[in-house]
Amino acid sequence: MDDCIFCKIIAGDIPSNKVYEDDKILCFRDIAPMAPVHLLVIPKEHIPSVDHITEQNADIISYIFTKIPHIAKTEGISESGYRVITNHGDDARQSVKHVHFHILAGKVLPDNMG
Ligand code: 5GP
Ligand code: ZN
Repeated sequence: MDDCIFCKIIAGDIPSNKVYEDDKILCFRDIAPMAPVHLLVIPKEHIPSVDHITEQNADIISYIFTKIPHIAKTEGISESGYRVITNHGDDARQSVKHVHFHILAGKVLPDNMG
């Protein structure tokens, strides 16, 4: 997707602070962290949001969730805890239309989800 910021990060056209990368996914630090640890995990395949997950592309989502525990261990947040969030659409205030999972940690997070 030519106009997708995260596709440009994957391509290396926009720099990012990478935490984990393989042939299928990328994890990097959010540019505007909302917690001491704020990571984004994205598939390299452009999928607009969780609302676009199908039986055909669902494997990459489960793959991401197999890597999150490894990323958390590397970040040292497995024991203290972390929150995984994804947003779809305007009411959830999704700002980048490439599916991504926020990993938030490093402090006791607010209990207000909405
Ligand atoms: P959303 O609001 O769509 O769920 O989350 C998008 C996230 O992407 C935001 O937390 C925002 O700070 C982050 N973000 C937007 N542009 C960039 C960028 O160019 N680099 C990085 N590292 N994060 C970005
Ligand atoms: Zn994209």
